[in-house]
Amino acid sequence: MGKIFVIGMGPGGLKDMSPRARKAIEVADLVVGYSAYLDLLQEHFLGKQFIKSGMTREVERCKLVLEKALEGHNVALVSSGDSGIYGMAGIMLEVVNKSGSNIDVEVIPGITAASAAAAVLGAPIMHDFAVISLSDLMTPWELISKRIEYAAQGDFVICLYNPKSKNRSGYINIARDIVMKYRDANTPVGIVKNVGRTGQTSVIATLENMLNNEIDMFTVVLIGNSQTYIEKGKMITPRGYRL
Ligand code: SAH
Repeated sequence: MGKIFVIGMGPGGLKDMSPRARKAIEVADLVVGYSAYLDLLQEHFLGKQFIKSGMTREVERCKLVLEKALEGHNVALVSSGDSGIYGMAGIMLEVVNKSGSNIDVEVIPGITAASAAAAVLGAPIMHDFAVISLSDLMTPWELISKRIEYAAQGDFVICLYNPKSKNRSGYINIARDIVMKYRDANTPVGIVKNVGRTGQTSVIATLENMLNNEIDMFTVVLIGNSQTYIEKGKMITPRGYRL
């Protein structure tokens, strides 16, 4: 029996990947993942067998990984960012549990989009923060909007993942309107696209004008709390130290 590594590759290519993740890919016989992410890696692991799959084929992808591991292969299942944050770690463990197999699964963490984007912006998530995905593929919008409401009420810095897609372009507008009920219109908002990848862009806007910027599925949006400010082009959420 082989072993399954569930790997968070970080936000971009090789440079933001941990040495542990890199080593797991090196020892794996097979690397499985969504094609757009594997394309970022393939050139660095020449000769390695890659199996690329489509975006919404997560369950099939995990079943394939299990099948190959049961055949005796060491398999690396790759997610972008951290595999335990809207990634493949949970579904892989569920598929293995359901199969009744006792195959070894090792989850290897990665740098998630929020912390990679925060580093580009300065230090916007120095205090308590909430990570919320606006994707309603598996979560009803009522629950998503409730979480935005409570996070805004609780003065959390809010990191929005999956902020927009063709089918639900309006959610980001509603999310902003909810936060506006509790926060100043001038609250800084960081909008970072393609972190660590070619075409990386970053903008610091305000809650009021944030929607004037392009926000898509390759973007993460960081809304500051009531204390967040901008200085010398950096977005800073103070932790509370006295200087
Ligand atoms: N497991 C990933 C998240 C997957 S959900 C992680 O830990 O980062 C996909 C969403 O994550 C995207 O819609 C986007 O909001 C965010 N994201 C992932 N990679 C990103 C990157 N390189 N730049 C900006 N946002 C990114």
